[in-house]
Amino acid sequence: MKQDSPYDVDVLRKEFPILDKEVNGHPLVYLDSAASAQKPRAVIEAQREYEAHFHSNIHRGVHTLATKATEAYEGVRAKLKNHINASKREEIIFTSGTTDSINLVAGTWGRANLKKSDTIVLTRLEHHSNIVPWQILAQEKGFAIEVVEIKENGELCENSLKEKLALSPKIVCVSHVSNTLGTINDVKNITKQAHQVGALVLIDGAQAAPHKTIDVQVIDCDFYAGSAHKMYGPSGVGFLYGKHELLCQMPPCRGGGEMIESVSFEKQTTFNVPPYKFEAGTPNLSGVVGYGAAIDWINSLGLDNIAAHENSLLEYASSKLLQIEGLRLIGTAKSKASVISFLVDGIHPSDIGTLLDQLGIAVRTGHHCTEPIMTKLGIPGTVRASFAAYSTFSEVDALVAGVERAVKMLR
Ligand code: PLP
Repeated sequence: MKQDSPYDVDVLRKEFPILDKEVNGHPLVYLDSAASAQKPRAVIEAQREYEAHFHSNIHRGVHTLATKATEAYEGVRAKLKNHINASKREEIIFTSGTTDSINLVAGTWGRANLKKSDTIVLTRLEHHSNIVPWQILAQEKGFAIEVVEIKENGELCENSLKEKLALSPKIVCVSHVSNTLGTINDVKNITKQAHQVGALVLIDGAQAAPHKTIDVQVIDCDFYAGSAHKMYGPSGVGFLYGKHELLCQMPPCRGGGEMIESVSFEKQTTFNVPPYKFEAGTPNLSGVVGYGAAIDWINSLGLDNIAAHENSLLEYASSKLLQIEGLRLIGTAKSKASVISFLVDGIHPSDIGTLLDQLGIAVRTGHHCTEPIMTKLGIPGTVRASFAAYSTFSEVDALVAGVERAVKMLR
């Protein structure tokens, strides 16, 4: 099945060495990009080039390689600042990914500011990464966690949000895009409402950054977190955006080299300014360099083009899958990104996933690190197919044929 796309997907796929692979005797059909996207040659090469020719530790040396490595690393910080339209490069902290970024906010801002009588607000849609760090801190501090509920279609319930905001929470933590249901939350509007009651806003952008243009100044959020490996970049790298005045007030949470101004046994040790205050130790240098290449790659294609292509795939896949008897889509929000979760009556999702794997089709099954969604919907998990810039309509056809075959075998 061939459909219109803003770019030539077949040509683009040649940039991804892994997409040529066979799995279990079949051409790989990779529909698990929400878990981790594949990397174009430009990213793989940028990392290799760095390791082979430029590697040295950053910030500390006066020698040529140390200067080049520092320039490369700080250059990516500037790139990321532009990519999400932060107002200053100091607002970008490199982390190991979204999970690390959220733990950083909980461990610094949260530990310094939350007390027993406080309330924070999460939503039912959150990934465990945006739940558990807050629960761990709540065990220590004793504050209350309130949850904004979802509607049947997977959208956040506006009344529930209003009720929770009426409790005057200290922070609202919300995903931009749900990794399980694909729901795109109106984070600008949520942020505006949260600010009206004096709450800060942290946005988990792990699933939004690969698909949407992010403008943190337009959203006006206080924190925004993302992961490189969901954006065609390396794993073990990500970012935390934080408003500069907040980062200046926040204490560090990890001590070590580079995050200090002066260390002394005789006087008080003093700390560096943001972002360095939060970047103790030697970071994932080649990973950051690869992340820079991934951002260039995304921008050369254009996020609007990627989103247009993925939206056509989503529409096509939804209509095709719904023709299978007993199949229902889980998550039908009006505004959705490129994730499609489904269940087939009477068949466990992991059985479908296992049979699809035998056909070389990679999908994810289970709770997708969002157990509270499963509890609410009363389901054990879902089968989740997710799309990226390189996904094709014929891969959707393969998925549909594979599910039909699995259903025949398992019924
Ligand atoms: N938040 C969401 C919405 C996600 O989908 C994921 C990963 O799947 C994460 C957070 C965690 O990202 P990472 O494992 O890169 O830290």
